[in-house]
Amino acid sequence: MAVQVPSRQLFIDGEWREPILKKRLPIINPATEEIIGNIPAATAEDVELAVAAARRALSRNKGKDWATAPGSARAKYLRAIAAKVTERKTELAKLEAIDCGKPLDEAVWDIEDVAGCFEYYADLAEGLDAKQKAPVSLPMETFKSYVLKEPIGVVGLITPWNYPLLMATWKVAPSLAAGCAAILKPSELASITCLELAEVCREVGLPPGVLNILTGLGPEAGAPLASHPDVDKIAFTGSSATGSKIMAAAAQMVKPVSLELGGKSPIIVFEDVDLDKAAEWTAFGCFWTNGQICSATSRLIVHENIVREFLDRLVKWTKNIKISDPFEEGCRLGPVVSGGQYEKVLKFISTAKSEGATILSGGVRPEHLKKGFFVEPTIITDVTTSMQIWREEVFGPVLCVKTFSTEEEALELANDTHYGLGAAVISNDLERCDRVSKVRVVYSR
Ligand code: NAD
Repeated sequence: MAVQVPSRQLFIDGEWREPILKKRLPIINPATEEIIGNIPAATAEDVELAVAAARRALSRNKGKDWATAPGSARAKYLRAIAAKVTERKTELAKLEAIDCGKPLDEAVWDIEDVAGCFEYYADLAEGLDAKQKAPVSLPMETFKSYVLKEPIGVVGLITPWNYPLLMATWKVAPSLAAGCAAILKPSELASITCLELAEVCREVGLPPGVLNILTGLGPEAGAPLASHPDVDKIAFTGSSATGSKIMAAAAQMVKPVSLELGGKSPIIVFEDVDLDKAAEWTAFGCFWTNGQICSATSRLIVHENIVREFLDRLVKWTKNIKISDPFEEGCRLGPVVSGGQYEKVLKFISTAKSEGATILSGGVRPEHLKKGFFVEPTIITDVTTSMQIWREEVFGPVLCVKTFSTEEEALELANDTHYGLGAAVISNDLERCDRVSKVRVVYSR
Protein backbone atom coordinates (compact mmCIF):
# COMPACT_ATOMS: atom_id res chain seq x y z
CA MET A 1 0.00 0.00 0.00
CA ALA A 2 1.43 3.36 -0.99
CA VAL A 3 1.83 5.62 2.02
CA GLN A 4 3.35 9.04 1.57
CA VAL A 5 5.59 9.87 4.52
CA PRO A 6 5.72 13.67 4.97
CA SER A 7 9.14 15.27 5.27
CA ARG A 8 9.20 17.33 8.47
CA GLN A 9 11.58 19.40 10.59
CA LEU A 10 11.80 19.88 14.34
CA PHE A 11 8.83 21.69 15.87
CA ILE A 12 10.08 24.54 18.06
CA ASP A 13 8.24 27.68 19.19
CA GLY A 14 5.28 26.91 16.93
CA GLU A 15 7.45 26.63 13.79
CA TRP A 16 9.22 23.98 11.74
CA ARG A 17 12.98 24.37 12.19
CA GLU A 18 15.85 22.51 10.63
CA PRO A 19 18.10 20.91 13.26
CA ILE A 20 21.07 23.19 13.94
CA LEU A 21 23.55 20.47 12.96
CA LYS A 22 21.31 19.53 9.97
CA LYS A 23 21.41 15.82 10.88
CA ARG A 24 18.68 13.40 9.77
CA LEU A 25 17.92 9.74 10.51
CA PRO A 26 16.42 7.20 8.10
CA ILE A 27 12.92 5.77 8.60
CA ILE A 28 12.85 2.04 7.85
CA ASN A 29 9.65 0.14 7.14
CA PRO A 30 10.09 -2.95 9.38
CA ALA A 31 7.90 -5.07 7.10
CA THR A 32 10.06 -4.51 3.99
CA GLU A 33 13.38 -3.23 5.42
CA GLU A 34 13.15 -0.34 2.92
CA ILE A 35 14.04 3.26 3.73
CA ILE A 36 10.82 5.25 3.34
CA GLY A 37 11.90 8.70 4.48
CA ASN A 38 13.84 10.43 7.22
CA ILE A 39 13.37 12.42 10.40
CA PRO A 40 15.31 15.36 11.80
CA ALA A 41 17.86 14.48 14.48
CA ALA A 42 17.98 17.05 17.27
CA THR A 43 21.04 17.63 19.43
CA ALA A 44 21.75 19.63 22.60
CA GLU A 45 21.74 22.88 20.55
CA ASP A 46 18.11 22.28 19.50
CA VAL A 47 17.15 21.27 23.04
CA GLU A 48 18.37 24.71 24.18
CA LEU A 49 16.04 26.44 21.70
CA ALA A 50 13.07 24.26 22.63
CA VAL A 51 13.50 24.73 26.37
CA ALA A 52 13.80 28.51 25.93
CA ALA A 53 10.63 28.52 23.77
CA ALA A 54 8.73 26.50 26.38
CA ARG A 55 9.89 28.86 29.14
CA ARG A 56 8.69 31.87 27.10
CA ALA A 57 5.30 30.20 26.58
CA LEU A 58 4.83 30.30 30.33
CA SER A 59 5.85 33.91 30.78
CA ARG A 60 4.97 35.68 27.54
CA ASN A 61 2.02 37.84 28.63
CA LYS A 62 2.01 38.02 32.36
CA GLY A 63 -1.40 37.11 33.71
CA LYS A 64 -2.58 35.76 30.37
CA ASP A 65 -0.07 33.02 29.71
CA TRP A 66 -0.67 29.32 29.15
CA ALA A 67 -0.10 28.39 32.77
CA THR A 68 -2.56 30.85 34.28
CA ALA A 69 -5.23 30.75 31.56
CA PRO A 70 -8.46 29.14 32.74
CA GLY A 71 -8.53 25.38 32.21
CA SER A 72 -11.46 25.85 29.85
CA ALA A 73 -9.24 27.93 27.53
CA ARG A 74 -6.66 25.16 27.37
CA ALA A 75 -9.42 22.58 26.96
CA LYS A 76 -10.50 24.28 23.71
CA TYR A 77 -7.10 23.56 22.18
CA LEU A 78 -7.16 19.95 23.41
CA ARG A 79 -10.58 19.42 21.86
CA ALA A 80 -9.44 21.01 18.61
CA ILE A 81 -6.45 18.66 18.53
CA ALA A 82 -8.76 15.67 19.18
CA ALA A 83 -11.01 16.76 16.31
CA LYS A 84 -8.09 17.12 13.87
CA VAL A 85 -6.66 13.74 14.90
CA THR A 86 -10.06 12.17 14.26
CA GLU A 87 -10.27 13.90 10.88
CA ARG A 88 -6.87 12.46 9.92
CA LYS A 89 -7.42 9.08 11.60
CA THR A 90 -6.90 6.79 8.61
CA GLU A 91 -3.82 8.62 7.38
CA LEU A 92 -2.25 8.69 10.85
CA ALA A 93 -3.00 4.98 11.35
CA LYS A 94 -1.27 4.15 8.05
CA LEU A 95 1.77 6.16 9.06
CA GLU A 96 1.85 4.40 12.44
CA ALA A 97 1.57 0.96 10.80
CA ILE A 98 4.33 1.59 8.27
CA ASP A 99 6.61 3.06 10.94
CA CYS A 100 6.35 0.52 13.78
CA GLY A 101 4.87 -2.53 12.04
CA LYS A 102 1.58 -2.89 13.88
CA PRO A 103 -1.47 -4.23 12.01
CA LEU A 104 -3.42 -1.41 10.39
CA ASP A 105 -6.67 -2.05 12.29
CA GLU A 106 -4.80 -1.96 15.62
CA ALA A 107 -3.17 1.30 14.57
CA VAL A 108 -6.66 2.71 13.86
CA TRP A 109 -7.73 1.82 17.43
CA ASP A 110 -4.60 3.51 18.78
CA ILE A 111 -5.37 6.73 16.91
CA GLU A 112 -8.98 6.64 18.14
CA ASP A 113 -7.55 6.32 21.64
CA VAL A 114 -5.32 9.33 21.00
CA ALA A 115 -8.34 11.50 20.18
CA GLY A 116 -10.21 10.09 23.21
CA CYS A 117 -7.27 10.89 25.46
CA PHE A 118 -7.15 14.55 24.35
CA GLU A 119 -10.91 14.78 25.02
CA TYR A 120 -10.51 13.16 28.44
CA TYR A 121 -7.86 15.67 29.51
CA ALA A 122 -9.93 18.52 28.09
CA ASP A 123 -12.64 17.50 30.57
CA LEU A 124 -10.10 17.46 33.39
CA ALA A 125 -8.73 20.86 32.37
CA GLU A 126 -12.24 22.31 32.58
CA GLY A 127 -12.67 20.68 35.97
CA LEU A 128 -9.60 22.52 37.25
CA ASP A 129 -11.43 25.87 37.08
CA ALA A 130 -13.93 24.78 39.70
CA LYS A 131 -11.33 23.26 41.99
CA GLN A 132 -8.51 25.78 41.95
CA LYS A 133 -8.70 26.45 45.67
CA ALA A 134 -9.50 23.65 48.07
CA PRO A 135 -9.97 25.34 51.46
CA VAL A 136 -8.58 23.69 54.58
CA SER A 137 -10.56 24.44 57.71
CA LEU A 138 -8.46 25.70 60.61
CA PRO A 139 -9.51 26.23 64.23
CA MET A 140 -8.31 29.87 64.27
CA GLU A 141 -9.71 32.47 61.88
CA THR A 142 -6.42 34.43 61.84
CA PHE A 143 -4.98 31.92 59.37
CA LYS A 144 -6.16 31.09 55.92
CA SER A 145 -5.12 27.83 54.35
CA TYR A 146 -5.94 26.19 51.07
CA VAL A 147 -4.49 23.82 48.50
CA LEU A 148 -3.70 25.49 45.19
CA LYS A 149 -3.00 23.32 42.17
CA GLU A 150 -0.43 24.83 39.84
CA PRO A 151 1.41 23.58 36.76
CA ILE A 152 4.94 22.47 37.54
CA GLY A 153 6.36 24.48 34.59
CA VAL A 154 8.42 23.19 31.67
CA VAL A 155 8.26 19.42 31.29
CA GLY A 156 10.41 17.05 29.24
CA LEU A 157 8.51 14.05 27.88
CA ILE A 158 10.53 11.08 26.59
CA THR A 159 8.62 8.19 25.03
CA PRO A 160 9.13 4.72 23.45
CA TRP A 161 8.12 3.23 20.09
CA ASN A 162 5.56 0.54 20.87
CA TYR A 163 2.51 2.85 20.83
CA PRO A 164 4.24 5.89 19.34
CA LEU A 165 1.51 8.53 19.23
CA LEU A 166 -0.55 7.08 22.08
CA MET A 167 2.38 6.99 24.53
CA ALA A 168 3.24 10.55 23.54
CA THR A 169 -0.39 11.61 24.02
CA TRP A 170 -0.55 10.06 27.50
CA LYS A 171 2.12 12.59 28.46
CA VAL A 172 1.36 15.56 26.18
CA ALA A 173 -2.39 15.79 26.90
CA PRO A 174 -2.14 15.88 30.74
CA SER A 175 0.83 18.27 30.58
CA LEU A 176 -1.05 20.75 28.40
CA ALA A 177 -4.26 20.33 30.40
CA ALA A 178 -2.38 21.19 33.59
CA GLY A 179 -0.89 24.35 32.05
CA CYS A 180 2.66 23.12 31.55
CA ALA A 181 4.75 23.80 28.45
CA ALA A 182 6.27 20.63 27.04
CA ILE A 183 9.15 19.30 25.01
CA LEU A 184 8.37 15.86 23.57
CA LYS A 185 11.22 13.54 22.51
CA PRO A 186 9.66 10.47 20.85
CA SER A 187 11.59 7.30 20.02
CA GLU A 188 13.92 7.54 17.02
CA LEU A 189 12.45 4.18 15.89
CA ALA A 190 8.93 5.55 15.38
CA SER A 191 8.54 9.32 15.23
CA ILE A 192 6.41 9.95 12.15
CA THR A 193 3.04 10.37 13.86
CA CYS A 194 4.51 12.54 16.62
CA LEU A 195 5.75 14.94 13.94
CA GLU A 196 2.23 14.90 12.50
CA LEU A 197 0.94 15.85 15.96
CA ALA A 198 3.15 18.93 15.61
CA GLU A 199 1.41 19.77 12.34
CA VAL A 200 -1.97 19.29 14.04
CA CYS A 201 -0.94 21.69 16.83
CA ARG A 202 0.21 24.23 14.23
CA GLU A 203 -3.11 23.96 12.39
CA VAL A 204 -5.21 24.49 15.53
CA GLY A 205 -3.07 27.51 16.48
CA LEU A 206 -1.65 26.17 19.74
CA PRO A 207 0.32 29.12 21.20
CA PRO A 208 4.02 29.00 20.24
CA GLY A 209 6.30 27.11 22.59
CA VAL A 210 3.51 25.32 24.45
CA LEU A 211 4.44 22.03 22.74
CA ASN A 212 7.84 21.50 21.10
CA ILE A 213 8.69 18.21 19.41
CA LEU A 214 12.29 17.11 19.00
CA THR A 215 12.98 13.87 17.19
CA GLY A 216 16.42 12.28 17.40
CA LEU A 217 18.59 9.79 19.24
CA GLY A 218 18.32 9.13 22.97
CA PRO A 219 21.86 10.10 23.98
CA GLU A 220 21.92 13.14 21.60
CA ALA A 221 18.44 14.61 22.15
CA GLY A 222 16.93 12.80 25.17
CA ALA A 223 19.92 13.04 27.50
CA PRO A 224 20.41 16.84 27.18
CA LEU A 225 16.67 17.28 27.74
CA ALA A 226 16.72 15.07 30.85
CA SER A 227 19.67 16.94 32.35
CA HIS A 228 18.63 20.47 31.35
CA PRO A 229 18.53 22.75 34.42
CA ASP A 230 15.56 24.75 33.06
CA VAL A 231 13.30 21.70 32.68
CA ASP A 232 11.21 21.37 35.83
CA LYS A 233 10.16 17.75 35.47
CA ILE A 234 10.88 14.71 33.31
CA ALA A 235 8.24 12.11 32.46
CA PHE A 236 9.75 9.04 30.85
CA THR A 237 8.42 5.77 29.47
CA GLY A 238 10.92 3.24 28.19
CA SER A 239 13.40 0.62 29.29
CA SER A 240 14.56 0.25 32.87
CA ALA A 241 18.18 0.81 31.77
CA THR A 242 17.39 4.23 30.25
CA GLY A 243 15.05 5.06 33.15
CA SER A 244 17.90 4.55 35.56
CA LYS A 245 20.13 6.97 33.59
CA ILE A 246 17.35 9.57 33.52
CA MET A 247 16.76 9.24 37.24
CA ALA A 248 20.50 9.70 37.88
CA ALA A 249 20.58 12.84 35.69
CA ALA A 250 17.51 14.25 37.44
CA ALA A 251 18.96 13.46 40.85
CA GLN A 252 21.87 15.81 40.12
CA MET A 253 19.35 18.66 40.23
CA VAL A 254 16.86 17.04 42.60
CA LYS A 255 14.37 17.27 39.73
CA PRO A 256 11.13 15.25 39.94
CA VAL A 257 10.78 12.38 37.48
CA SER A 258 8.07 9.89 36.69
CA LEU A 259 9.27 6.65 35.19
CA GLU A 260 7.20 3.95 33.51
CA LEU A 261 9.59 1.12 32.79
CA GLY A 262 9.88 -2.49 31.66
CA GLY A 263 8.29 -5.71 32.86
CA LYS A 264 8.44 -9.50 32.89
CA SER A 265 4.90 -10.09 33.97
CA PRO A 266 3.53 -13.49 35.02
CA ILE A 267 0.28 -15.17 34.03
CA ILE A 268 -0.88 -17.96 36.36
CA VAL A 269 -3.21 -20.61 34.90
CA PHE A 270 -4.95 -22.84 37.47
CA GLU A 271 -6.21 -26.33 36.67
CA ASP A 272 -9.93 -25.47 36.86
CA VAL A 273 -9.92 -23.29 33.72
CA ASP A 274 -11.63 -23.68 30.36
CA LEU A 275 -8.50 -24.68 28.44
CA ASP A 276 -9.45 -23.05 25.15
CA LYS A 277 -10.39 -19.74 26.69
CA ALA A 278 -7.29 -19.74 28.89
CA ALA A 279 -5.10 -20.50 25.87
CA GLU A 280 -6.67 -17.61 23.97
CA TRP A 281 -6.04 -15.17 26.85
CA THR A 282 -2.50 -16.42 27.33
CA ALA A 283 -1.75 -15.90 23.63
CA PHE A 284 -3.31 -12.45 23.80
CA GLY A 285 -1.32 -11.54 26.92
CA CYS A 286 2.04 -12.37 25.40
CA PHE A 287 1.70 -12.02 21.62
CA TRP A 288 -0.55 -8.97 21.16
CA THR A 289 1.51 -6.23 19.48
CA ASN A 290 4.27 -8.85 19.19
CA GLY A 291 4.80 -8.87 22.94
CA GLN A 292 6.06 -5.29 22.61
CA ILE A 293 3.95 -4.17 25.56
CA CYS A 294 5.44 -3.30 28.96
CA SER A 295 2.83 -5.40 30.77
CA ALA A 296 2.94 -8.35 28.32
CA THR A 297 2.47 -11.53 30.35
CA SER A 298 5.60 -13.27 29.15
CA ARG A 299 6.06 -15.81 31.98
CA LEU A 300 3.41 -18.55 31.94
CA ILE A 301 3.00 -20.39 35.24
CA VAL A 302 0.63 -23.28 34.59
CA HIS A 303 -0.64 -26.07 36.85
CA GLU A 304 1.32 -29.28 36.27
CA ASN A 305 -1.85 -31.38 35.88
CA ILE A 306 -2.95 -29.51 32.75
CA VAL A 307 0.35 -28.40 31.27
CA ARG A 308 0.47 -30.85 28.35
CA GLU A 309 -3.03 -30.32 27.08
CA PHE A 310 -2.83 -26.59 27.73
CA LEU A 311 0.37 -26.17 25.75
CA ASP A 312 -1.07 -28.24 22.87
CA ARG A 313 -3.98 -25.82 22.62
CA LEU A 314 -1.76 -22.79 23.05
CA VAL A 315 0.56 -23.91 20.24
CA LYS A 316 -2.52 -24.51 18.05
CA TRP A 317 -3.70 -20.98 18.86
CA THR A 318 -0.39 -19.41 17.89
CA LYS A 319 -0.36 -21.33 14.58
CA ASN A 320 -3.64 -19.60 13.70
CA ILE A 321 -2.27 -16.10 14.20
CA LYS A 322 -1.90 -14.46 10.81
CA ILE A 323 1.60 -13.03 10.44
CA SER A 324 1.96 -10.67 7.49
CA ASP A 325 2.59 -7.16 6.26
CA PRO A 326 0.55 -4.89 8.59
CA PHE A 327 -1.50 -3.66 5.63
CA GLU A 328 -2.70 -7.13 4.61
CA GLU A 329 -6.32 -7.97 5.39
CA GLY A 330 -6.63 -10.03 8.61
CA CYS A 331 -3.03 -9.42 9.77
CA ARG A 332 -2.73 -10.05 13.52
CA LEU A 333 1.05 -9.91 13.85
CA GLY A 334 3.35 -7.63 11.91
CA PRO A 335 7.13 -7.39 12.15
CA VAL A 336 8.93 -6.31 15.32
CA VAL A 337 9.88 -2.66 15.20
CA SER A 338 13.45 -2.74 13.87
CA GLY A 339 16.44 -4.79 12.78
CA GLY A 340 18.02 -4.20 16.18
CA GLN A 341 14.95 -5.49 17.99
CA TYR A 342 14.74 -8.50 15.63
CA GLU A 343 18.37 -9.45 16.42
CA LYS A 344 17.76 -8.92 20.13
CA VAL A 345 14.71 -11.23 20.17
CA LEU A 346 16.54 -13.99 18.26
CA LYS A 347 19.53 -13.65 20.62
CA PHE A 348 17.26 -14.16 23.63
CA ILE A 349 15.91 -17.32 21.99
CA SER A 350 19.36 -18.71 21.15
CA THR A 351 20.64 -17.95 24.67
CA ALA A 352 17.63 -19.79 26.14
CA LYS A 353 18.50 -22.78 23.94
CA SER A 354 22.14 -22.71 24.94
CA GLU A 355 21.14 -22.54 28.62
CA GLY A 356 19.18 -25.79 28.20
CA ALA A 357 15.62 -24.60 27.47
CA THR A 358 13.44 -26.16 24.75
CA ILE A 359 11.87 -24.15 21.92
CA LEU A 360 8.44 -25.74 21.83
CA SER A 361 7.22 -23.65 18.90
CA GLY A 362 8.27 -20.63 16.83
CA GLY A 363 11.68 -19.11 17.46
CA VAL A 364 12.32 -18.33 13.81
CA ARG A 365 11.25 -16.11 10.93
CA PRO A 366 8.01 -17.41 9.33
CA GLU A 367 8.90 -19.35 6.17
CA HIS A 368 6.54 -17.40 3.90
CA LEU A 369 8.15 -14.03 4.72
CA LYS A 370 11.57 -13.57 3.18
CA LYS A 371 12.03 -9.89 4.10
CA GLY A 372 11.09 -7.83 7.13
CA PHE A 373 11.73 -8.22 10.85
CA PHE A 374 9.19 -10.99 11.48
CA VAL A 375 9.47 -13.54 14.30
CA GLU A 376 7.02 -16.40 14.89
CA PRO A 377 5.27 -16.42 18.28
CA THR A 378 7.65 -18.45 20.41
CA ILE A 379 6.95 -20.76 23.36
CA ILE A 380 9.88 -21.93 25.48
CA THR A 381 9.74 -24.79 28.01
CA ASP A 382 12.24 -26.53 30.33
CA VAL A 383 13.03 -23.14 31.79
CA THR A 384 14.75 -22.60 35.14
CA THR A 385 14.41 -19.50 37.26
CA SER A 386 18.07 -18.63 36.80
CA MET A 387 17.83 -18.48 33.00
CA GLN A 388 18.01 -15.12 31.22
CA ILE A 389 14.69 -15.87 29.46
CA TRP A 390 12.94 -16.11 32.85
CA ARG A 391 14.61 -13.06 34.34
CA GLU A 392 14.90 -10.42 31.59
CA GLU A 393 12.35 -8.57 29.48
CA VAL A 394 12.49 -9.61 25.80
CA PHE A 395 9.90 -7.12 24.54
CA GLY A 396 9.11 -9.53 21.71
CA PRO A 397 6.74 -12.47 20.98
CA VAL A 398 8.39 -14.89 23.39
CA LEU A 399 6.66 -16.79 26.19
CA CYS A 400 8.53 -18.92 28.73
CA VAL A 401 6.78 -21.62 30.73
CA LYS A 402 7.08 -23.12 34.21
CA THR A 403 4.70 -25.42 36.08
CA PHE A 404 3.48 -25.40 39.67
CA SER A 405 1.63 -27.75 41.99
CA THR A 406 0.44 -25.49 44.84
CA GLU A 407 -0.91 -21.96 45.01
CA GLU A 408 2.05 -20.93 47.18
CA GLU A 409 4.48 -22.21 44.61
CA ALA A 410 2.66 -20.33 41.84
CA LEU A 411 2.88 -17.12 43.83
CA GLU A 412 6.52 -17.59 44.58
CA LEU A 413 7.26 -18.05 40.89
CA ALA A 414 5.06 -15.10 39.90
CA ASN A 415 6.82 -12.80 42.35
CA ASP A 416 10.28 -13.99 41.36
CA THR A 417 11.07 -10.80 39.43
CA HIS A 418 12.65 -7.42 40.06
CA TYR A 419 10.21 -5.70 37.65
CA GLY A 420 6.78 -6.08 39.23
CA LEU A 421 4.73 -4.23 36.56
CA GLY A 422 1.65 -6.36 35.76
CA ALA A 423 0.26 -9.85 36.39
CA ALA A 424 -2.69 -12.03 35.38
CA VAL A 425 -4.53 -14.94 36.99
CA ILE A 426 -6.87 -17.35 35.19
CA SER A 427 -9.15 -19.57 37.27
CA ASN A 428 -12.84 -20.33 37.51
CA ASP A 429 -12.65 -19.69 41.25
CA LEU A 430 -13.13 -15.93 41.62
CA GLU A 431 -12.26 -15.96 45.30
CA ARG A 432 -8.94 -17.52 44.45
CA CYS A 433 -8.34 -14.93 41.70
CA ASP A 434 -9.04 -12.19 44.20
CA ARG A 435 -6.81 -13.74 46.88
CA VAL A 436 -3.91 -14.44 44.53
CA SER A 437 -3.97 -11.07 42.83
CA LYS A 438 -3.67 -9.30 46.19
CA VAL A 439 -0.43 -10.95 47.23
CA ARG A 440 2.25 -8.28 47.18
CA VAL A 441 5.28 -8.65 45.00
CA VAL A 442 8.34 -9.39 47.11
CA TYR A 443 11.19 -7.96 45.12
CA SER A 444 14.04 -10.39 44.66
CA ARG A 445 16.71 -7.79 43.94
P1 NAD B 1 14.39 2.95 25.45
O1 NAD B 1 14.67 3.11 26.91
O2 NAD B 1 15.46 2.42 24.58
O3 NAD B 1 13.98 4.36 24.80
C1 NAD B 1 12.89 5.12 25.31
C2 NAD B 1 13.13 6.58 24.98
O4 NAD B 1 14.28 7.03 25.69
C3 NAD B 1 13.42 6.84 23.49
O5 NAD B 1 12.81 8.05 23.11
C4 NAD B 1 14.93 6.97 23.47
O6 NAD B 1 15.42 7.73 22.39
C5 NAD B 1 15.18 7.66 24.79
N1 NAD B 1 16.54 7.50 25.32
C6 NAD B 1 17.41 6.49 25.09
N2 NAD B 1 18.57 6.72 25.76
C7 NAD B 1 18.42 7.88 26.43
C8 NAD B 1 19.22 8.64 27.33
N3 NAD B 1 20.46 8.24 27.64
N4 NAD B 1 18.72 9.76 27.85
C9 NAD B 1 17.47 10.16 27.56
N5 NAD B 1 16.65 9.51 26.71
C10 NAD B 1 17.11 8.37 26.16
O7 NAD B 1 13.07 2.08 25.36
P2 NAD B 1 12.35 1.59 24.03
O8 NAD B 1 13.15 0.46 23.47
O9 NAD B 1 12.00 2.75 23.19
O10 NAD B 1 10.98 1.03 24.62
C11 NAD B 1 10.84 -0.24 25.12
C12 NAD B 1 10.82 -0.21 26.64
O11 NAD B 1 9.79 0.65 27.11
C13 NAD B 1 10.50 -1.58 27.24
O12 NAD B 1 11.37 -1.82 28.31
C14 NAD B 1 9.07 -1.42 27.72
O13 NAD B 1 8.72 -2.29 28.78
C15 NAD B 1 9.04 0.00 28.13
N6 NAD B 1 7.67 0.53 28.17
C16 NAD B 1 7.10 0.76 29.40
C17 NAD B 1 5.78 1.20 29.47
C18 NAD B 1 5.12 1.47 30.81
O14 NAD B 1 4.09 2.14 30.81
N7 NAD B 1 5.66 0.98 31.92
C19 NAD B 1 5.06 1.41 28.31
C20 NAD B 1 5.68 1.16 27.07
C21 NAD B 1 6.99 0.72 27.01
